[in-house]
Amino acid sequence: MELSAEKTYDAVIVGAGPAGLTAAIYAVRANLRVLLLDRLAPGGNIINTNEVENYPGAGRLSGADLAIKMFEHTQKLGVEFDYRTVTKVNDGGEWKTVHCEEDDAVFKTRTVILATGTVARRLGVPGEDRWAGGGISWCAVCDGPQYRGKDVVVVGGGNSAVEESLYLASICRRVTVVTDLDLTADPKACERLRALPNVDVHIWQQVLAFTGEDRLTGVSFRGAKFDQEERRVACDGVFEYIGFTASSEAFAHLGITDRTGCVVADTRMRTAAPGVFGAGDITVKPLRQIVTACSDGALAANSAAAYIKELL
Ligand SMILES: Cc1cc2nc3c(=O)[nH]c(=O)nc-3n(C[C@H](O)[C@H](O)[C@H](O)COP(=O)(O)OP(=O)(O)OC[C@H]3O[C@@H](n4cnc5c(N)ncnc54)[C@H](O)[C@@H]3O)c2cc1C
Repeated sequence: MELSAEKTYDAVIVGAGPAGLTAAIYAVRANLRVLLLDRLAPGGNIINTNEVENYPGAGRLSGADLAIKMFEHTQKLGVEFDYRTVTKVNDGGEWKTVHCEEDDAVFKTRTVILATGTVARRLGVPGEDRWAGGGISWCAVCDGPQYRGKDVVVVGGGNSAVEESLYLASICRRVTVVTDLDLTADPKACERLRALPNVDVHIWQQVLAFTGEDRLTGVSFRGAKFDQEERRVACDGVFEYIGFTASSEAFAHLGITDRTGCVVADTRMRTAAPGVFGAGDITVKPLRQIVTACSDGALAANSAAAYIKELL
């Protein structure tokens, strides 16, 4: 194990999505010695987002362009970035260590900002890879407006699926909800959804495939409980809401995550472990968007600086 201890940091930021990139900008401007790590190219989930239309001041631009702009901003400010997969974060009190897969490197730091985000679960059925990001979306707030006046299918029946279906029903012509169980969301929300005239709900159905020639045009599914009948619904777009996986394996042992693996942080992004902060989608929060991730990142860096000031 190579301990890169000759060089210590004030803040190691794990994850270079919008939350981590913003945390890096705020931390370096607060004169902290910062190291930003990501196992992939900086930008996080927005790299694979076709168009971003709701980031204030940016107008309409590709997610990849926004990611590049954010990363360039960190580089102009002199943020040290490295491609590393973080395998473990240890809380040694005043000094924490961040352990990486590559070369078994270990970085020593006074604070850690966890900004590792989440990964949307996928069904793994035919057609999904082909239409992902261009017909199938995992974000109704982001991509819903593209389907104004059109027909969409929502896959899933939990809180997110039902809430996003209610939103989509207010802008789309028809919303068809397909779920492998019954609707499991808040009963009042389910009632409201079922009562809408432009919503059809198909429960106990297993999605078989996403179909289409030049574009996605339909979803086929089969009864999974009361019948085995195969059905197909024509649509212009699909929204999958079958849950997400929090990228928190590296720090699950710190006792700062909830049962879904998300980091529990207060309004200043402090966790129960002093000097460890959470930011962005990895935290327990009601709205997972770029702008909220950036806000978390700024707060986390600000809190890290305040924590170090108290420590010294
Ligand atoms: C398809 C899609 C479209 C979207 N469209 C929009 C939109 O139009 N507008 C909007 O506001 N929001 C949109 N969102 C939501 C937005 O992308 C997220 O809210 C935002 O990216 C969260 O930022 P984050 O920094 O918290 O996490 P992420 O963007 O998920 O970044 C986390 C980073 O951590 C890295 N990482 C994870 N684990 C490790 C590890 N162990 N070691 C090192 N690095 C690690 C990952 O590689 C990743 O780069 C969309 C999301 C999706 C999925």
